[in-house]
Order: sequence, then C-alpha cells, then structure tokens
Amino acid sequence: MNVEVDKDLCIGCGFCASTMPSVFELDDDGLSQVIKKENEEENTKEDILEVAEGCPTNAILVEEENEKE
Ligand code: SF4
Repeated sequence: MNVEVDKDLCIGCGFCASTMPSVFELDDDGLSQVIKKENEEENTKEDILEVAEGCPTNAILVEEENEKE
C-alpha cells in the first residue's frame, strides 16, 4: 500500500500528524508529508485508512497495491 499527501489539498490542520506521528509529519511549510510509506502490519493499514477518511480535505491518498491474500 502506498500513501501520499496531496499538498495542494492539505490545509495543514495537523490531524494526521497528531493521530499517526509514525507515518505523517508536518513539513517546514506546515503541510503534511508521509515519513513512512509502507507498513506491513494490518492494524497500521486500517489506521492509515481511518486517518485518510478523517482528513478534512481528503488530501491523503491511499493506493492499494497487489497484495497476497
Ligand atoms: S489531515 Fe489532511 S489537511 Fe490535515 S494536515 Fe493531514 S493531510 Fe493535511
């Protein structure tokens, strides 16, 4: 799974960075960036999806890659 932040959409509210500081942080411009793109733990994936849904501007893009079932 690949996680990106669209900085054109991000308003720097800090929700993602405060909720999952292991994955998101605010850069020098106060916009979110992904510091850890890949996670192998299922829990983390679900958490990332929840954070993405909680982003007020839908700036967090989550792309599922082909994975083993
Ligand atoms: S939750 Fe969304 S708008 Fe807020 S800092 Fe994160 S990416 Fe930006």
